[in-house]
Amino acid sequence: MVLSIINHPFKYETENVLRIFFPLEKITVTEEYPASDENSAVTVRAFSDGGCIMSCEVKIGAKTVKKEKYVNGAADGDAELALAQSLYDCLVSLTGTVPSWGVLTGVRPSKLMRSLISSGGGDYAKRYFTDKLYVNKEKTELAFAVSKAEDKIISLSRNNSYSLYVSIPFCPTRCSYCSFVSHSVAHAKKLIPDYVRLLCEELREFSEIANNLGLHLETIYFGGGTPTSLGEEDLKTVTDAVKKYFDVSSAREYTIEAGRPDTLNPEKLKIMKSAGVTRISINPQTFNNDVLKNIGRNHTAEMIYKAFGEARNEGFDNINMDFIAGLPGDTFGSFCESIEKAVALSPENITVHTLALKRAANIVTGKRTHEVKNETAEMLSYSSDALYKNGYFPYYMYRQSKSVGNNENVGWCRNEKECLYNIYMMEEIHTVFAAGGGAVTKLKSPFENKIERIFNFKYPYEYIERFDILKDRKKRIYEFYKEIGMI
Ligand code: SF4
Repeated sequence: MVLSIINHPFKYETENVLRIFFPLEKITVTEEYPASDENSAVTVRAFSDGGCIMSCEVKIGAKTVKKEKYVNGAADGDAELALAQSLYDCLVSLTGTVPSWGVLTGVRPSKLMRSLISSGGGDYAKRYFTDKLYVNKEKTELAFAVSKAEDKIISLSRNNSYSLYVSIPFCPTRCSYCSFVSHSVAHAKKLIPDYVRLLCEELREFSEIANNLGLHLETIYFGGGTPTSLGEEDLKTVTDAVKKYFDVSSAREYTIEAGRPDTLNPEKLKIMKSAGVTRISINPQTFNNDVLKNIGRNHTAEMIYKAFGEARNEGFDNINMDFIAGLPGDTFGSFCESIEKAVALSPENITVHTLALKRAANIVTGKRTHEVKNETAEMLSYSSDALYKNGYFPYYMYRQSKSVGNNENVGWCRNEKECLYNIYMMEEIHTVFAAGGGAVTKLKSPFENKIERIFNFKYPYEYIERFDILKDRKKRIYEFYKEIGMI
């Protein structure tokens, strides 16, 4: 597919709209008109009478559709939206597909919803979603509900708040759909002692910076990877370092992702409990053993029950379970059964993800993409109804590019057990200091929408070999806080 950009700067938006309809196709962007036999989308801005005409002509095979919109004035925001709408209209008309999120391509719909509510109120925000962005009613209500749930949590964050992220990029085996930098424990065994030692050193550096800046720790989150794929001793070393360098007791929440049940045992649960961990994740993804095998996870549904029971016995009263809609080999019926089984276990959080298509492309077999899309959309609708019915409400959400059917990932909770970190991180509310391989520290000004990122090295071996460079990069944290007037 060729995307022609004629006389406008909206390459990013038009390409993203095109990707909603053709997520896996190669898109060649050019400032020329395409050859007449190519599948193409020609997007043009033509100035006229103090405004401009934003037009699109899309050709797929023998069919061509053209749409245009006139924009009064020359504001880039209006012109960009009009062009996205015209392109979207052409693509709906040619493909017959009506995406549930309309032209909305951003990863944080609830953040946009909140900003629209604050500028024009709830009705205005919802109308903007449905009338301008063409988001359907169900997704508009979802984004609205999430933005309202987030308000309460966001209001807890103060000017000097920050969260701490600890990256453990190791897993027992690699899931077939994984898009993270995660190494199997067996493969990375040699690296783990040095990794753990330097991670503890980085935690010390962050605690020193936080103290010097007078920052207050709100939440701690261990992610990865699967943090509990560390052995007992290493897990204890890292959690001891957190306890030594940070005031864990004053943090509102301390989460460790114990994602894979095959990495859990009563001893690790005890280590986490005595370290002050308040929330863990035990992620089935599905309760169907055949699907678990398909996706390369080395555990069974029975092991999930066992790990869950042991965690409850150890006193964990805030447990999350992740599921994925659209897994290879899963069916609507088996997905629904998984959600029902999860609800019966009654975890405080259930997170429902949509499979990312970049991986699905390699592993979805036997079904055409549109069938997978429709089935995944039905799975999400089912989980939404079932979870509402059972007292869960949506409290956080995000979208990934190239997820099946361009759908969303939603965190559900009950008994006021929202995961605070998820909201602070996804909505970019305050600074997150992130330690470990692949971690990204995000500096956020409490006074304006100023955000800056500091990247750690992606792979554990690089993190180990080039650790000293990271120390140097942290100097930027002081400069940032100086620039925003906090020192
Ligand atoms: S558990 Fe998560 S991080 Fe680990 S391999 Fe599977 S998808 Fe990747």
